[in-house]
Amino acid sequence: MDWKEALPKIITQPDIRLRFGEPLAKHTYFGIGGETTAYIEVNTINELAALARFHQKWEVPVAIIGRGSNLLVNDKGFSGISVRLIDELAKLEVDGNVVTVGAGYPLPGLSKVMSKQGLSGVEFALGIPGSVGGALIMNAGAWGSSFGDVVTDVTVMRDTGELIKLTHDEANFEYRRSGLNAYFCVVGATLKLQHGDVDTITAQMQDFFKQKTETQPFAEENAGCIFKNPPGDSAGRLIDISGLKGHRIGGAEVSTVHGNFILNMDNATAADVLDLVAYIQKQVREKMGISLQTEVKRLGFDE
Ligand SMILES: Cc1cc2nc3c(=O)[nH]c(=O)nc-3n(C[C@H](O)[C@H](O)[C@H](O)COP(=O)(O)OP(=O)(O)OC[C@H]3O[C@@H](n4cnc5c(N)ncnc54)[C@H](O)[C@@H]3O)c2cc1C
Repeated sequence: MDWKEALPKIITQPDIRLRFGEPLAKHTYFGIGGETTAYIEVNTINELAALARFHQKWEVPVAIIGRGSNLLVNDKGFSGISVRLIDELAKLEVDGNVVTVGAGYPLPGLSKVMSKQGLSGVEFALGIPGSVGGALIMNAGAWGSSFGDVVTDVTVMRDTGELIKLTHDEANFEYRRSGLNAYFCVVGATLKLQHGDVDTITAQMQDFFKQKTETQPFAEENAGCIFKNPPGDSAGRLIDISGLKGHRIGGAEVSTVHGNFILNMDNATAADVLDLVAYIQKQVREKMGISLQTEVKRLGFDE
């Protein structure tokens, strides 16, 4: 038997939550990428554990996808199973200032709900369109705050289906990265927030969001910042003074609003984006002597 025939047997509602040949472009903010062999919306821990064991047994690659807001998928797609976490894996519970949240929960939603509860610590996150899982993997952040700052522990799943709880330190949060991609899946986290005034927290959250929409492109498809900021500098500034704003390769263009964003202007391919990334890196290296490192994650390029 082939793994594609065996897969529906581990899903409780395969007709609703499993699709073969699903275009990944529609699951990414870039709107770019070919098909994934299989796409599953996993709704329970037990099903996720069954999938982990399936992945081990059949040696089939699995990619957990959050909101696809930091993801560039190959034009050829991904030969494996793409997974989205829903229901039991996207729950939120608040107990005083301690918040337990599933990896599938949306980050902007978390920011809004916390502001309404008078809990401070994630005001920066309204304008970051990812999931909690993606925010943990990336240690997403803005305005001097990072998601890892409010995390006390993270629950991850091993390839065996075993759940383990990591402390904040064991998660190895650094600037726009963590040690969490060593595991099969990030399942959720516990956050410790600070009690505060609802109106003050809400005003701060809205102010951050307003500043973001005024300084970054929101209308066109993109994957957020393409490059990490080099220590003590801003990638957007370096790209800007290298004269690269508006530079276009195929359908991919450097935003004229913020140089660290590449926009899918006209049916851009992943190849267009990567050519533009390489061009920017070469220009900034030659003109400024700085090597820019990408922040955006790639899927389907290692096969
Ligand atoms: C308009 C826009 C603005 C943005 N602004 C910011 C910003 O201000 N600051 C910032 O830091 N980022 C920003 N981003 C980037 C992005 O939103 C963040 O990196 C976010 O944390 C990604 O989350 P995601 O759920 O979309 O992850 P995805 O893009 O779906 O995935 C990113 C990586 O995480 C992995 N992953 C996701 N979930 C899991 C899981 N549960 N278990 C294991 N692996 C997982 C994926 O396999 C992939 O490798 C922006 C993006 C856009 C489009």
